[in-house]
Amino acid sequence: MRPLPLTLLAASLLLATGIASAADPATTIPATAIKTAEQLRDKAMHDDTGYRIVESLTTEIGPRLAGSDADQRARDWAVAKFKALGYDKVYTEQVKFPLWVRRSEHGAIVAPFSQPLVLTALGYSPGTPKGGLTAEVVKFDSLDALKAADPASVKGKIVYIGFRMQRAKDGHDYGMGSAVRTAGPPIAAAKGAAGYLLRSVGTDADQRIAHTGVTGFRDPTKAIPAAALSNPDADQLERVLAYGKPVTLKLDLDCGVVGEYTGANVIGEITGRKHPDQVVAIGGHLDSWDPGTGAIDDGAGVAIAMAAGKLIHDLPQRPDRTIRVIAFANEEMGLWGGRAYADKHAGEVAKFQLGTESDFGAGPVWRMSASVKPEARGAITQIANVLEPIGVAYDAKKPGGGGSDLSQMHGKGMAALTLTQDGTNYFDWHHTPNDTLDKIDPKQLAQNVAVYASFSYMAAQADGDFGSAPGAFAGDGAAD
Ligand SMILES: [Zn+2]
Repeated sequence: MRPLPLTLLAASLLLATGIASAADPATTIPATAIKTAEQLRDKAMHDDTGYRIVESLTTEIGPRLAGSDADQRARDWAVAKFKALGYDKVYTEQVKFPLWVRRSEHGAIVAPFSQPLVLTALGYSPGTPKGGLTAEVVKFDSLDALKAADPASVKGKIVYIGFRMQRAKDGHDYGMGSAVRTAGPPIAAAKGAAGYLLRSVGTDADQRIAHTGVTGFRDPTKAIPAAALSNPDADQLERVLAYGKPVTLKLDLDCGVVGEYTGANVIGEITGRKHPDQVVAIGGHLDSWDPGTGAIDDGAGVAIAMAAGKLIHDLPQRPDRTIRVIAFANEEMGLWGGRAYADKHAGEVAKFQLGTESDFGAGPVWRMSASVKPEARGAITQIANVLEPIGVAYDAKKPGGGGSDLSQMHGKGMAALTLTQDGTNYFDWHHTPNDTLDKIDPKQLAQNVAVYASFSYMAAQADGDFGSAPGAFAGDGAAD
């Protein structure tokens, strides 16, 4: 074999040393930690701590709309619950947001076939004028059709969009459904619409129950009354529209922004033994919409994270790193708690070992994905191997987004998982009066606690980190 030309040899040597010096050592999880994590997992599968927490929250507090009296009572509940569970450190961090209130809501078809409609006002909707808003309806089949509409066809009318969400395990239609609810109202307002109505973003069909949720109104002076019809009422409106005659609706909403409110994220910690300043961050959001009792959204998430921390607390000794459980304020009206948290803690992002939030109901976790540095992929596979026996499949191709509020820390550079729950039934009840405790299967909730307890513990015990650094995961498709 001929010797390599000198320049090529030098280049390949440079390349080799360059790679060797740039690469961090691989992050690994010690065998003893894996054994303990397996024990935690198996114990959690038969433990009812999580269920008892969500039962307590939904029974003793019930609905807890951000900024309501119940919001304060929920914070007091969370502080007391963390303490009762034995957390080492419990504290709150202020979160400010506009205070929106709902007082009453009515709607009706005035002409051609007069009859009442079941609807619910959407977050940040202003109220209608005294005596209600009566206007002709203009229907669009999609958000894109509204975007393309001539303002003259919309001006002074009530815009209606009839997007119908289909049932799916991963709930993927919620992306479009929530866009119709958040982006649609400001687009309609900018074109001069008098009001906005949508078909509820929900998969149920058999009940006259509307699904509430937030709009994307950011400027209250440019907002218009906005509401969601129940699915059967949306069907009815569409049948009436199909006659081809002008359809007049009346909306009578008493709601709106009445000032600013100061709430708080409530945080409990199991303090790390070796690296107390390095944290595994998990959580859920403490606020809920007002019609139900916030069991699946998101009492379940708060309970899963609190119970996972409690199970780690009960081990013979503290984990190497801190387990931080965050019960976020006002997720529902625009990630206020998550955004405030990320703004406050962006400078410490490198201290966040790994994080994710539970906010997709109480169905079992069936898939895990991660956004971590390449040298930590082996450790993620080790975590996946512990979760596999309880039904969690690892998708190495998808990024991890960190969940709802913690997506904001991921956006700042926190290494993150996504633990996808089975959402087949979630959107039957989401943001409705039917979001109540009976929708939670205690065994499925326990599986979630098993996933969160074992992954959190392994991340806390890892030799090495998962790559958190300022801006580390920009452009991964999940860091929004
Ligand atoms: Zn939620």
